[in-house]
Amino acid sequence: MNANIKNANIKLVVLDMAGTTVADGGLVERAFAAAAGELGVEPDSADHAAKLDYVRATMGESKISVFRHLFGAEDLAQRANTAFEKAYGELVDDGLVAPVDGAREAVDALKADGLTVVLTTGFARVTQDAILDALGWRDLADLTLCPADAGGRGRPYPDMVLAAFLKAGAADSVREVAVAGDTAYDMRSGVRAGAGIVAGVLTGAHDEPALRGAGATHVLPSVAELPALVRGFGS
Ligand SMILES: [Mg+2]
Repeated sequence: MNANIKNANIKLVVLDMAGTTVADGGLVERAFAAAAGELGVEPDSADHAAKLDYVRATMGESKISVFRHLFGAEDLAQRANTAFEKAYGELVDDGLVAPVDGAREAVDALKADGLTVVLTTGFARVTQDAILDALGWRDLADLTLCPADAGGRGRPYPDMVLAAFLKAGAADSVREVAVAGDTAYDMRSGVRAGAGIVAGVLTGAHDEPALRGAGATHVLPSVAELPALVRGFGS
């Protein structure tokens, strides 16, 4: 590191939910199957497989954006998205989400250190709230954001990170922001926002090369390691 440039003290932490703080065990793929069925995509067809590959590659992106890409017309995309959110919500209500080990404790540790913590998602608000309710996490973070809260653009755009920066008012510079997520799109959003730490975690969709290739400054086994990284960063 250039000795003249000191790392900024992190004051704001923006954490992804599914795959990063929330273990959903492949619910996105199951809910996608419901959405594809709604649009008449045959299960086990090549079309279904190709679309599922796209869903995997773009994990972390705003889901309505994914469906616009896959189905083109806005009304079809909206129908697919509605079916997806309904199916995902039902799986959540069935108790199929759980915290990533140590995630709650990591958020509590960051807050105890005086940091502001924001949870972000590529899902719609109704799904985000269903997950928060299922985990008893309504009051865990200081703020929760979905793409619609940031003008509609989710990852890989930096908008949710920048919305967190603006709404939280906790940091003086984007260099004082840490972003953590499990996908390449999380990493891109952090890099584009100018975050001081852009940490990939290995508890979700993408592996270390994918995360590094998208600009991760650090790769951690899980979000449980984030408080220690943040503490040591500015000193
Ligand atoms: Mg994720």
